[in-house]
Amino acid sequence: MPYFGCHLSAAGGYRAMVNTAISIGADTVQFFTRNPRGSRAKAIDPADAQAAVEIMSAHSFGPVVAHGPYTMNLCTKDPEARAFAAQVLAEDLRRASLLPGCLYNFHPGSHVGQGLSTAVCQIAQALEAALAQDLAVPVLLETMAGKGTEVGGRFEELAQILAAVPSPLLGVCLDTCHIWDGGYDLAENLSGVLEEFDRVIGLPRLKAIHINDSKHSLFSKKDRHACLGHGEIGLAALTALARHPALSGLPMILETPNDLSGYAREIAVLRGACSPS
Ligand code: FE
Ligand code: FE
Ligand code: ZN
Repeated sequence: MPYFGCHLSAAGGYRAMVNTAISIGADTVQFFTRNPRGSRAKAIDPADAQAAVEIMSAHSFGPVVAHGPYTMNLCTKDPEARAFAAQVLAEDLRRASLLPGCLYNFHPGSHVGQGLSTAVCQIAQALEAALAQDLAVPVLLETMAGKGTEVGGRFEELAQILAAVPSPLLGVCLDTCHIWDGGYDLAENLSGVLEEFDRVIGLPRLKAIHINDSKHSLFSKKDRHACLGHGEIGLAALTALARHPALSGLPMILETPNDLSGYAREIAVLRGACSPS
């Protein structure tokens, strides 16, 4: 059985966030490390983090996911902005290390016309520097929809970054809306998509799932999330993915446009689909 949860705000502290997660039937959670559209980060209260860790272990939580800010572009053209992004990454890993067992997920970035190979080098450089801090925080590259010059719209692009940074801490977070919009047909051919992931990246690198429906069609390259069953992927395909034996034990995070009761419903639907009836 996978762990199920959703994206929640950590603005009121980790302990409050974890209690909210429990109230909606979650046993994992994702949160932004800082304002997703800015770069300022509030200091972490170690006592609050410790309290959250204790509550999570009492409730048998799976790994939780810290999500880096959208504005952090490790392969932007301007060297100063790039250095700043690399600094944000390094600092975010130190913040994530205060929550033991936490995974750190981020968007690889947009190469803004520099080309893929330059971008891969720049992303790899920032990752190497951040990982050299020896914090033991697993770092996940998120699969992207491939809109504009986004890096990570193809499994091959993530494989290039993984090959450039030989660290066992590097992994991948698969976002179902993003890969669908990028042209991977998980509705018609889930096993084929997972086989392709395994061939190009390797399934052992897969550490988390973002389980979202998509407002747009296969290959649309749009990246607009929909509630489960209210999009083009459909509920049958998403519950089949939740049930897939190759993905059991992974944290599956909803990033659907929902309020708390909507998240509670979707978590119940996914759990129901996974339990033997
Ligand atoms: Fe994301
Ligand atoms: Fe996502
Ligand atoms: Zn998205």
